[in-house]
Formats: sequence, structure tokens, C-alpha cells
Amino acid sequence: MSASTLKIFAIASFGIAILATLTVFIISKNEPVLEPVIEPEITVPETKPFVSSSTIGVSVEGRNIEMYSFGDGEESILFVGGIHGGYEWNSIVLAYDMIDQFSSDESLVPEGITVRIIPNLNPDGLAIVTNKTGRIFESDIPDPSNRVAAGRFNANNVDLNRNFACKWAPESTWRGEVVSAGTQAFSEPEAQALKNVVENISPKAVIFWHSQANNVYASECENGVLPETLDIMSIYAQAGGYGEVPVFDAYPITGDAEGWLASLGIPAITVELGSYQSTEWNQNLAGVKSILNKYGK
Ligand SMILES: [Zn+2]
Repeated sequence: MSASTLKIFAIASFGIAILATLTVFIISKNEPVLEPVIEPEITVPETKPFVSSSTIGVSVEGRNIEMYSFGDGEESILFVGGIHGGYEWNSIVLAYDMIDQFSSDESLVPEGITVRIIPNLNPDGLAIVTNKTGRIFESDIPDPSNRVAAGRFNANNVDLNRNFACKWAPESTWRGEVVSAGTQAFSEPEAQALKNVVENISPKAVIFWHSQANNVYASECENGVLPETLDIMSIYAQAGGYGEVPVFDAYPITGDAEGWLASLGIPAITVELGSYQSTEWNQNLAGVKSILNKYGK
């Protein structure tokens, strides 16, 4: 391409560009002025899934401790199974069955409530009597003659329900036996995990599942039983067909989780199932519903 051809080409291009701009300008001048279209603001509601789960801690031997949550209400009701591990593993099966129930029936959770379930606070204690971790079923529960007391404790041989900050002492008792309560309150990671949860969610009430005594127990630390604790003890016991024990005095206990909650002003009860083998499903579903009915809006 010669220099003169280039020049002509450049001038022609410039002319075309000006023409195009003018045309656009004229066309736009003649068009009616459109009101700006206001797009409706699309707000995506913050939807929390109905069911969620999280790892709230790790046991001495490195097993995860899980918590399941149902609903998105402001007030939490917390249920805890398995603090005594494999020794009371029907409490763990019951908690998992309850998780299944809440997962399949959202209507069980009243308005304003979030149901939280820790199915097994002591996974190492379960591992002592079974190689199973996570979900276990009623059919997994071993013959009662295979029961070993060691499954009650965590991997440091500590009775976790003696490791909380209510009248804590290094040694405590379980029936006639001396049991280790850890090196200090909350020395055990499993107890610490529950402490963190309680501090995070400030539950309105806490229900522990144990076995076996066929009763529902109130709780207290050093200031007597909270009136609301007596209330939920009676509600659960009557709905579930269990006995009511306002004050546990069968043998001295220190450092129990329920007493620690009482010291914080949080109503807490202990549901002792009537056997080591069964979840007593209908009784406990009725008990749980009665508690949620009390706290629901
Ligand atoms: Zn127990």
C-alpha cells in the first residue's frame, strides 16, 4: 500500500466515523425519552437450612464430637447423649433416633426454637465397647453381660460428668466407686466442647440422656434447684412416664454438667432411661415434645 493510498484510506475512515456518530446522534434525538426502568429489587432471603451439623470438638483420641441443629429460632433447647459413652449407649442410639425424627419432620420444631442435639459427647467411651463410630442403632446395643465400666469414661479414664465447674474435686464417686474427675474442671476436651457450645448458644434448657434409673432428675449446684428446672423435670417425667427426683442424694457427686448449668442459671435435667438396652422411644419422644411445647411460641 502506497503512502497516498494510506492517506485516502485514513480520510475515508475518519469521514465514515463522523457520519456514523451523527447518525446515532440524530436517531437518538428523535427517539422519545424513555423513563429509566427501575428493576424491582430482588432480595434473596437468608435461608438457613432446616438441618445443619457441626463439629463442636475433638475427643482425647481424636474422634469428632458432633452437634445437629434443627430450625432457626432464637432460643436453643439442647439435648445431650452419650456423656457416659459405651456404658450407656442406648442414650446415644436415642439421640440419633431423635436426629432422624427431627430431620424428617420439621413440624416438630416450634416457632422461635432451634433444637440442638449432641448425640455422643464421649466417642472414645463408645469406642471402648464397639469399633463403631457415628450413627449406631438399637440393634447394635450389646448384650448387657458384655458391659464394661471402662466405656463410661473418656480415654483419660475420666468420668466426664465429674469434670465440670460445680463443686469440682479431683476425685469423685460413682455408686460405691472412686472415679477420676480430671486434673481440673474442664481439663477434658469433651467437657470443654460442651462448655463452648453452652457459651455460644446460651440454651434455654438442657436435657441429658443417661441410663439407667427410670427417673428424671432436677439439678442444682450451691443455690438450690431453679423453679424452672423443677418444672421441666415434671413435664418430661409425666409425659414420658418416668419418676421425678427433685434432689439427687443417692451418693455425693461433684463436677456434674447439670450442676454446672444450674450454677449459670440454666435449667438442666437428667433423663435416666429405665434400662441399658432400649431407647424407650415413645416415652422419650413424648418427653421431648412436652419440653418443646413449653418453650415454643
Ligand atoms: Zn450416666
